[in-house]
Amino acid sequence: MTHAYEWIDRSMQTIHQAHWYRSPQVVASRADDVVHMAGRDMLMFASNNYLGLAGDRRLIDAAIAATETYGTGATGSRLVSGHLALHAQLEQAIAAFKQTEAALVFSSGYLANLGAIAAVVGARDLILSDTYNHACLKQGATLSGAKVIHYAHNDLEDLATHLAQHRHLHRRCLITTDTVFSMDGDVCPLLGIMDLADRYNCMVLVDEAHGTGVFGDRGAGVVNAMGIHQPLIQVGTLSKALGSLGGYVAGSAQLIDFLRNRASTWIYTTGLSPADTAAALKAIEIVQKEPQRREALWNNLAILKQGLGTIKAIAPNSDLASQIIALKVGDTEQTLKVAEYLKQQGIFAPAIRPPTVPTARIRLTLMATHTTAQIHTLLTCLKSCLA
Ligand code: PMP
Repeated sequence: MTHAYEWIDRSMQTIHQAHWYRSPQVVASRADDVVHMAGRDMLMFASNNYLGLAGDRRLIDAAIAATETYGTGATGSRLVSGHLALHAQLEQAIAAFKQTEAALVFSSGYLANLGAIAAVVGARDLILSDTYNHACLKQGATLSGAKVIHYAHNDLEDLATHLAQHRHLHRRCLITTDTVFSMDGDVCPLLGIMDLADRYNCMVLVDEAHGTGVFGDRGAGVVNAMGIHQPLIQVGTLSKALGSLGGYVAGSAQLIDFLRNRASTWIYTTGLSPADTAAALKAIEIVQKEPQRREALWNNLAILKQGLGTIKAIAPNSDLASQIIALKVGDTEQTLKVAEYLKQQGIFAPAIRPPTVPTARIRLTLMATHTTAQIHTLLTCLKSCLA
């Protein structure tokens, strides 16, 4: 009898004791602002389906048509048998959307970040990474073998200090940041980051996972909304506002060609499925043609902001700059209790806890398709358990 796996029992005990235990909730219906969970309809305030496109008839039809034409799988890696005409179309559409020379589609946003970071820097190089960056930016940094320094969240002074101290000791330098932070919803000071990158001869990789589809008049993201045209490595996902699955890197034609040759998470994995590719392609078209979806989302944020202002026990930790709202309602146990209360009331807005984030919070996400009445229901429930 082997004891080689007993450590797992002990680890699980530690996870439970620290209130870190997590388990997925089953969703048994189509992505929408109301979903079927645990035998009942729940108001969804935790989805990344910001524009409501994941359940849109036009995306569903595009996915079905692509499956009819190409089959269910890409059948191989892109450099072997899995490069479909549909992939090429999607990459052109992303480049046009992002106003870059080219783009490359990965199997997920996670893999896009891992692959891009590990391809552009190595052991002789330096990465300056915002402390609140998404896990895949951090893991990409580790994978690259570069020296990694985490600068204080959105703190240009701290970034400048590290650059002054360390930049000259390394060959290449890459600054990495989420544009919209996934757990706090605040936006990075990108213009300042670009200035520092210019001054210290650094590359910049931005993760537009939560900015794509939402920011800018065409929904092209924060880079576009801020009018930035300098060279950049723009990463993003097709899985949030675009309602599909997959990730991308957009940038110069040279960068993309380089990644096709060096990004191992792109080279050694099967191409994106025809259904996902076609759905994303349709979403990019709709996102640009239907600004009313973004207007509805921002309007919903204004309604929520106004309502939250009257609940004293809540301390949103950002200036509510995006569709992601972090509500600090106490320690981990208290946050779990609030999430449980909301769940009993038919509202799904779970607690996000350490180790995912430094401090527990209810992470609310808004959708363009939420009605004013749904937001008021949420506010009423928050008031009755917190005020
Ligand atoms: N970057 C950020 C900032 C994210 O929030 C996420 C998803 N949670 C990802 C990347 C990963 O994207 P995907 O889900 O497409 O792997």
